Amino acid sequence: MQHKILIIEDEPDIAGMLEYLLRDEGYEVIVAYTGEDGLQLHAEHEFHLIVLDLSLPGIDGLTVCNRIKQSSTIPIIILSARDKDSDVISGLEIGAEDYITKPFNHREFILRVGKILSRIKWIDKQKEIKIDDFVINLEKDEVYKSGKRINLTPNEFALLTCLVSRAGWVISWQALLKDVWGHEDWEGGREMVKVNIQRLRKKIEPDPHSPEYILNEWGKGYRFKNIDKEE
Ligand code: CA
Repeated sequence: MQHKILIIEDEPDIAGMLEYLLRDEGYEVIVAYTGEDGLQLHAEHEFHLIVLDLSLPGIDGLTVCNRIKQSSTIPIIILSARDKDSDVISGLEIGAEDYITKPFNHREFILRVGKILSRIKWIDKQKEIKIDDFVINLEKDEVYKSGKRINLTPNEFALLTCLVSRAGWVISWQALLKDVWGHEDWEGGREMVKVNIQRLRKKIEPDPHSPEYILNEWGKGYRFKNIDKEE
């Protein structure tokens, strides 16, 4: 499968160079020169990754990142000028997966992109995932703990696999709502996600009140504990 990447960067030289580097690695690339166009393209196409410049005319990069993360699990790498460290921290706080400061090393940029995409590819290739004493069978939609089957509803299973497939990354409740239930943001959606997370915790966590696996990221969403991914 060819991965499709959206670049949102207003400086034509940098956008052109990023496009060239990514195309050279075999990725399909689309460039947006404003945040507005980026959001539009994101809504119209299925991308696997977004490279997002923080300083954009019109809607700024942080707002773009925030809007995308509120409806999607797509990973975002933010680009920032070196003197804007606080923007990078804000970007990571609202859920960007990684950041690169300009000027950047081309090789390093490609490696970071590859690392994020390989995590996504990894989950697609798995028949089952083992985490501590859990086994998640992705072919049969079954979960076992210490060899014993745990009964999950289809929505609970979808919620668990969505979280595990992005283990270590924060997912907003809106993105879970969309991914698991197919709903856009609606009143009551936050509560529905919360209730289902609580049910799932009761079934899989040793102590649901002090979760080890499904963690709250206050004000941002949920994060499954990071897991080692072996090929
Ligand atoms: Ca810029």
